[in-house]
Amino acid sequence: MTPTILRDQVDQALRDLEPELIRHRHHLHRNPELSNREIATAAYLAEQLRRFGVDEIRTDLAGHGVIGVIRGGKPGDKTIALRADMDALPVRETSGVSFASDREVEGPNGTSIPVAHACGHDCHMATVLIATKVLAMFRSELPGTVLCVFQPAEEGAPIGEQGGAQVMIDEGAFAGVEPTMVFGMHVSPLPSGTVAYRSGSQFAASTRVEVIIQGRQTHAAMPWLGIDPMPAAAGVIVGAAHLVRRIPVWQPATVTFGHVEDQGRFNIIGDRIRLEGTIRCAEDADMERLKTGLHDLAIGQAQSHDCSAEVRFDHEVPAVVNQTGWIESTLPTLRRLVGQERLLVSPPTLGYDDVSALIRRFGGLYVLYGAQDTRWVTDGSGAPTFEPIAGGRGLVPNHHPSFYANDEALRCGAAIHAHIALDHLYGLIDPSATPTIRVEAGS
Ligand SMILES: [Zn+2]
Ligand SMILES: [Zn+2]
Repeated sequence: MTPTILRDQVDQALRDLEPELIRHRHHLHRNPELSNREIATAAYLAEQLRRFGVDEIRTDLAGHGVIGVIRGGKPGDKTIALRADMDALPVRETSGVSFASDREVEGPNGTSIPVAHACGHDCHMATVLIATKVLAMFRSELPGTVLCVFQPAEEGAPIGEQGGAQVMIDEGAFAGVEPTMVFGMHVSPLPSGTVAYRSGSQFAASTRVEVIIQGRQTHAAMPWLGIDPMPAAAGVIVGAAHLVRRIPVWQPATVTFGHVEDQGRFNIIGDRIRLEGTIRCAEDADMERLKTGLHDLAIGQAQSHDCSAEVRFDHEVPAVVNQTGWIESTLPTLRRLVGQERLLVSPPTLGYDDVSALIRRFGGLYVLYGAQDTRWVTDGSGAPTFEPIAGGRGLVPNHHPSFYANDEALRCGAAIHAHIALDHLYGLIDPSATPTIRVEAGS
């Protein structure tokens, strides 16, 4: 069978399996689990892989990760890894879909935490599952190996725990089946069925930050009898906004505090203040500079107000860097599937994705996939942006309680995974074989 005939047969199988694809998506969406708690999700995925008859199933990887291995029936030295993240978010869903999550899990001190797939990882799992099923059906025609990689804890392991892509690598999840290409996509508010890619930094480097300012408790009316940590904390928050001015403005970066915890009240100066936040930068090289700056700022502010400070950085994720060679060699496949008019350069983002660990280690590509009722707007200069379509469900960012992804977009998403797998195994996606052409913004 030629690659062209094989692709046609794969497409026909995907059309036949669209109802099953949607069923998987709805099941996973209705049953979301938080990072490092993806127990039922992992069991469901492993059960499907067993039904599909893949050659090997690896489970309990970095917690609840699952890898299915399909060994092709033709000789070949390529191994494609199709990666889907598994975890949901502590968000109360208000998307209004019939398969919305109403799940709650137990939180600290008897509280309950709502859980929802507000980042669309249910779509990632469902599309990779169906691509895997179809590739397993045609395994005798595959010149190489296919891995479906279901990765836990993309949204960040709970404080004090490890998890995610780097832990999978460190624990040897890929032993004996090292990918020669990793491919992944993230659903986004872009127009349904479009692919957006970026050469260089696709997603930012990220670090979680914790700053603890230690003072000494006293009466609010007698501050001189204690040490007030409040001015030092305020100085850190205000000063942090200026740190990014040390980075060239064309290299996006931000230092954001999203959580402040104080122990005082209106008439008590509390003992200490805890700040929690994140540093994001498009270029990995800027991270050390911002971390050092924030550390020195916190220590300096604490000293100048008689306090002491501790600064901790954890959950460090490198930037997702798409190498030009991988983009150039994958663009023909993407163009064939979605058409040139649905293939665009994405604007920069300071979001992160720990798929970066896999792509840095093994090579490959990560792109955005549109799944909402939006449309591109461009005036011909600079990167295009997008806006809601009149009468549609609107533009809703990932992590928002009303985030949604259209079911109708998913079959093409599964086709992209399946075709990229085929084209890589057949040697058609190979950066070392692609002449270098500069990829211009807007091309
Ligand atoms: Zn997310
Ligand atoms: Zn996500």
